[in-house]
Amino acid sequence: MKYCNKCLMPDTRPRIQFNEEEICNACTHSESKKKIDWKLRKKEFLDIILKIKNRDKKFNNKYDCIVPWSGGKDSSTIAYKLKFEYDLNPLLVTFSPLILNELGNYNRELLIKAGFDSIFIKPNNKISKKLSKRFFIERGNPKVAWDAGINSTPVQLAINFKIPFIFYAEHGESEYGGLVLDEKSQKLRKFEEVIEHQIGDHPENWVSNDINLSDLAMYIYPDPEILEKNNINAYYFSYFFKWSMFENYKFISEKLPEFKTVKNGKTDGTFTNFDSLDDKIDNIYYYMQYIKFGFGRATRDACRMIQNNQMTRKEGLELVKKYDHELPKLYFKDSLDFLDMNEIEFFDIVNKHRNNEIWEQNNNDFKLRFPPK
Ligand SMILES: [Zn+2]
Repeated sequence: MKYCNKCLMPDTRPRIQFNEEEICNACTHSESKKKIDWKLRKKEFLDIILKIKNRDKKFNNKYDCIVPWSGGKDSSTIAYKLKFEYDLNPLLVTFSPLILNELGNYNRELLIKAGFDSIFIKPNNKISKKLSKRFFIERGNPKVAWDAGINSTPVQLAINFKIPFIFYAEHGESEYGGLVLDEKSQKLRKFEEVIEHQIGDHPENWVSNDINLSDLAMYIYPDPEILEKNNINAYYFSYFFKWSMFENYKFISEKLPEFKTVKNGKTDGTFTNFDSLDDKIDNIYYYMQYIKFGFGRATRDACRMIQNNQMTRKEGLELVKKYDHELPKLYFKDSLDFLDMNEIEFFDIVNKHRNNEIWEQNNNDFKLRFPPK
């Protein structure tokens, strides 16, 4: 296990690439953003806005675009800007978190009250529980099917409502270190990339004894031919504007002063209180990254802030040492109930996904073989 010289990301992160100076590609991408002509990018963005406003409104003259929306700082910032700075009428589309919580509901209500239409999609709970448990056991990730759902439902609605423009948040592969297929994929969302990198396989393959194809309707992405026929354009906001989760948080809490963060000042496993707050199962999702790849939620957050010059590597390292290993305590019982497991079964699965090349065992204690320095 080796770590990036600039941030704290290890090379165990899937698809990440390091250069000869042992710097990860999230850091080189972040550096390259300094050379981007952002004025030109903004002009490109304004041209798209103009194209949206001047489109043929024969089929739909009400909504200008779709924003896949969790109600968190990033998607709410995008929605707010599109509506109040660029004068569009976005339709907000939420694929329900696996386990809803009050904080998420509250922040979503807050933005709707500021003047938005939204559609909230709740999939068959029996099926989503089964899929979540299955992928937690098989892949150590309870959110695989949910990931497919948040990807497919906004596009399904774009087709059905005839709203051919979608604005996604950031291109994760370039922002956080991954495999960038080509320059274009940083601007226009390619579903094949999402399937390959995020979901792993096509949801059509998830049919089993107790799940049939129609149960999977919400997870299956529309046929590429239908997308082309409907001229669906899905853009990443991060291509047009310099992306920073911390800046988004500052923006939305300025616009919506009642926007809430976690009560006790920080989320389990990290030092931040403003990111990924709307699903009770998220704490387990990030904990499993720590188990599988040896980096936790504090590393993830620290790297993003180091890359945006919001903290030094040294400051980040201290926070990583302090918080990365924390157990997901908040909502733990709700998550076990959802996964239909007891604590012993849960930790059995956790340890099954522990990578022995990364972890060293002393009795019941596990230690990283190569902690960050
Ligand atoms: Zn790095």
